Formats: sequence, C-alpha cells, structure tokens
Amino acid sequence: MEKRKISFPHFGSYYIPIRHLMIRGLEIDYVTPPPMTKKTLELGGKYSPDYVCAPFKIHLGCYIEAIEKGADTLIQVDGVCRLGYYGELHEQILRDLGYDVVFVNLARARNRRIRGFYEEFKKISPNLSLKKFSTALLTSIDMVESIDQIEDYLRKNIGFEQQEGSFDRLYEDYLQALSLVESRKEAKYVTSNYIKRFKEIPVNKPLKPLRVGVVGEYYSIMDGFSNHQIEREMAKMGIVVDRYLNVSNSLFHYPVKKMREYIKGYSSYDIGATGTMTLNRALKFAKRGYDGIIHVKSFGCTPEIDAMPVLQNISKDYKIPILYFSFDSQTAEAGILTRLEAFYDMMVMRKEGKA
Ligand code: SF4
Repeated sequence: MEKRKISFPHFGSYYIPIRHLMIRGLEIDYVTPPPMTKKTLELGGKYSPDYVCAPFKIHLGCYIEAIEKGADTLIQVDGVCRLGYYGELHEQILRDLGYDVVFVNLARARNRRIRGFYEEFKKISPNLSLKKFSTALLTSIDMVESIDQIEDYLRKNIGFEQQEGSFDRLYEDYLQALSLVESRKEAKYVTSNYIKRFKEIPVNKPLKPLRVGVVGEYYSIMDGFSNHQIEREMAKMGIVVDRYLNVSNSLFHYPVKKMREYIKGYSSYDIGATGTMTLNRALKFAKRGYDGIIHVKSFGCTPEIDAMPVLQNISKDYKIPILYFSFDSQTAEAGILTRLEAFYDMMVMRKEGKA
C-alpha cells in the first residue's frame, strides 16, 4: 500500500504536534496546508452553507488547499457541538466537488479514547503499532502543553518588550526547535530551555498594567488567523492578555464539575461546547479585578450566543466592560481595530477614574 499523505486544517501552532503524531506515530507523510489567506476563506465560503459557523468554512478551505497540495487523506475532528457532524458534511461537499480522498473522521472514535483513535488510524496505516502510536501521542501531548505554556507567557509579556520583535524572533526559533523534537525528553528540554530564554527578554512592564481576559469559542479564540490576531493587537497596545482556553486546558486540565459549581449563581445548566468555560473564566476575571473582557466567537456559534446574556449579568454585577467579537469569513480588519482602540481608551479612562 502506498504511503498516504494526510492533512489537517490549520489551527495556530498545533500543526507541529499533529505532524509529529502523523509522521512518527502513523509513519505516514503529512501535508501542512498552505498558510491561510483570503483565498482560503473564499474557497471555504463558496462551497459551505451560508449560515454555518466560520470554523466549518475555514476547515473546508484548508481541506481544498491541502488536497491541491497533494494530500490524499484528511483528518476530521469531533466536538461537543455540531462540530461532531461537520466531518460527514465536509466529506459530502468534497465528494460532490469531485475530490477522491480518504477521510479519518475522529467523531467515529468517540467514547473509545486512545483505542478508538488507534482503530480509526489503523484503517489508513494497517501496520500501525500501538506502542509507536502511543509513544508519539504522548510526545505530541507534551508538545501541545509546551506551546500552551510558552504562548501564555507571550500573551502576558509581548506588549512590554524593550526591543521590538524580540519575542517574535525567539518564538520563531522555538517553533523550529519544537519541530525537531523526537521524544518526550526532548520536548521537556525544549520547553524549559525556551521558557528560560523568554524570561530573559527585557520587558518594561508597569506595576499595574491593563489586564484583559479573553473568553469564547474554541477555534476562533485559538486560531490567530480566524480572529484577526486580536490578542496580538491588544498586546501591542500594552495590555496583559490572559486566556485560559487552550488545547491542554480544555482536554487535560478541565475540572468541569468545579467550573460548573463556580458559576452556579449565573447558570444552572451546562451551555455546551466552551460555554461553561467562557462563563467560569469571565467570572474569575471579573472577581480578580481585570480591566475588561473580550468575548470571541464565530458568527452563528449557538453555544456562545447562549453564553452572552449571562456574560452581560457578570458585566453588570462586577462593573467590568465586555467587548463582543463575532468573526466570519467576511469580517473587515479595519472595524476590528477601531473597536479595540475604543475599548482600550475606555479602559484607560476607567483606570484613571475619568469614566
Ligand atoms: S463551538 Fe460554535 S463555532 Fe465552534 S464548531 Fe461549535 S457551533 Fe461552530
């Protein structure tokens, strides 16, 4: 059987651990989709139902570009919202467009955890060894934790760098080093080495900087391209940007019972998808006296639409301003910046007691 060329849509820097899992664990080739551009959005938007949420359109655009780059196998993810059905819909659309590719739909592995994933992947890699797959999976998990740890530090400090570009340069270096990782030991070494190096970058951080918490929907919040790099834009304004939602916190450190308990005065039921985490973190940011909250979601994301009235209650009770962003393939860059700047000015005035 010819070696398959598998691909997965862009998702921040997580393509590195995903690629590791495919190459080392499944011993198949990995095709990184071309960097996302306006064309990716146009392609995805053109062939998607109009009112479907943005991650669907973005993924479809990435799939088409990956196929055109040589991918013959596509991974589709599962999720606790309608994302769980998207795999089948993507498959139908791509088949109607005439693409002859194989789909690995992880929604079919639901509830079977590592064994389920292993069985799904075995369909495209029949000689797959459970030992190799598990070893590569554990290394990939360490890589994910590494990215999350480093990016958390970045969000809180990049806005205060003394020399412009020093964080970005080191981050590029870090991604390069992470791409070469072969084992858990190496992943741990790269993480501790780069955390140390990031901490050595000189910053001019005021004693009481503006702090903004970011909450919202899984994909739009974590994928910089999808949210027009709003975290980066805020950091440039000299803001500490704090976000709890990332892959490791949502998959490996998600104390859902405690989270529900914490927000029970605001919500008695689980909203679904990332809604509970959105409310939990928003309440935490509010209680900790943050200067503002940014809520990020994709257009048409029903779980996060449900969370919005509750966020308004938190905002009213704790007198914390919340700025809402809803992203689609049509969102214009200029409008985002204008709203962010106005939000920033308002937070500064409040801090100075003028508003
Ligand atoms: S969480 Fe919202 S935006 Fe994300 S896939 Fe589900 S419905 Fe779509």
